[in-house]
Amino acid sequence: MGEAVVLYPSPAIGHLISMVELGKLLLSHCPSLSVHVLITSQAYNAGSTTSYIASVSAACPSITFRHLPATSLPPDFSTTSPHHETLALELLRLNNPNVHAALTSISKNHVVHALVVDFFCASALSVARELSIPCYYFFTSGASVLTVFLYFPTLHKLYTKSYKDLNAVLHVPGTPPLPSSDIAKPVQDRNDRAYELFLESSKNMATSAGIIINTFEKLEPRAVQAIRDGECVPGGPTPPLYCIGPLITSGEGKGEGSGNGMSDCLTWLDSQPKGSIVFLCFGSLGVFSVEQLKEIATGLERSGQRFLWVVRNPPQDADRKTATSAMPDPDLASLLPEGFLERTGEKGLVVKTWAPQVEVLNHSSVGGFVTHCGWNSVLEAVCAGVPMVAWPLYAEQRQNKGLMVEEIKIALPVDESESGLVSWEEVEKRVRELMESEEGEIMRERVKSLKEEAKAALRPGGSSGVELRNLVGSWKRE
Ligand code: UDP
Repeated sequence: MGEAVVLYPSPAIGHLISMVELGKLLLSHCPSLSVHVLITSQAYNAGSTTSYIASVSAACPSITFRHLPATSLPPDFSTTSPHHETLALELLRLNNPNVHAALTSISKNHVVHALVVDFFCASALSVARELSIPCYYFFTSGASVLTVFLYFPTLHKLYTKSYKDLNAVLHVPGTPPLPSSDIAKPVQDRNDRAYELFLESSKNMATSAGIIINTFEKLEPRAVQAIRDGECVPGGPTPPLYCIGPLITSGEGKGEGSGNGMSDCLTWLDSQPKGSIVFLCFGSLGVFSVEQLKEIATGLERSGQRFLWVVRNPPQDADRKTATSAMPDPDLASLLPEGFLERTGEKGLVVKTWAPQVEVLNHSSVGGFVTHCGWNSVLEAVCAGVPMVAWPLYAEQRQNKGLMVEEIKIALPVDESESGLVSWEEVEKRVRELMESEEGEIMRERVKSLKEEAKAALRPGGSSGVELRNLVGSWKRE
């Protein structure tokens, strides 16, 4: 019988990439393992995973991808929930019989040490329990956000109003004070199905065999300590926490970049002065309205800074901040202010849809990053030693912004108007501050020292390596 670990990530490419990196890391500590990754059919377009899966399969024969049969919602299904997460969570619940079948089949030839799920796939906990397989959570965001998720059932009891109507500051152990409006959108409304599903996942999390998290202790010491001290699950046990990050992957095979994005922009960066470029990129799903794109363009132009900017087609509905279906490349000339591309051609490059972010961040010409605060992006910037402007768009990104700006102090905030629009004046001001001010320089020094801490955590004997060894060691003892 071989030894196996089964990884079950949710469909977004950011989650899949982190999970695969975890698989590689487990293999580096325990080469006798085989790693099986369960792939669901995608509920929404989260960046194509095909080329990524192909490149991993070719490079790592110990990692097998197992495509689960497609699920569909019953014909009479209806929901008033406006969030794509609700649909994803409902579909993932329906996958339980497929997960059961996959685990049973893998168990025929392997001792399955663990099923590792991400937050969205937590409904599979019951399947693992039924099959007596220990179930671990892999939390693909940071410890600061984890404190809130672990504390979520406590907050649920503390308040009766929805967060969207609460207008209060929430005090969660280990994390900066959190305005209730900054809680992730899908859980803003108590009557939303997404709220119910998140609450269930939070409760399940406290009963799991352990939480593996993509962070390192020195990045978020206060949050890690609060969780380990049991402060985030008052009155009950907290599962062991394994901080094994930062897990970063290079851009090889990541997403299906198109347009002029991929290698052209690295060649262009080669011709730019050291540390001079501000890179603007908003995750795998981030999109802006035409109006917002124009404000960004004007702000960039007026800032006089050199830039590399990834632009996607605006959504049909101007208020949406995520691309939930595949979109063609944008027609830059018609979207951006007239003459913008010609006027800024000397100093800036606009890339359509996708850029190799890790390579870009690590290029010596890049000196700043305007980010949507997705956790992978934050870790990638930390590991590249690049300070940021925090412009959260969706999911838990507002909480990440609070952490980056107030606690770790490696990012400047962008302020938006009541309508959610960020003016060109604000873009100009923040980009200039990031690249030219003393505050920007202090942040740059801080993030560079965190880059060294990240390296130290990953070295043999470093904190993340030790925690991973403890995790694998606990399987061996069983
Ligand atoms: N990414 C990239 N190029 C792009 C946009 C995104 O390589 O043009 C990568 C980025 O490096 C990161 C991932 O996609 O690894 C996005 O993950 P993150 O957690 O930051 O945000 P999400 O897309 O999950 O909101």
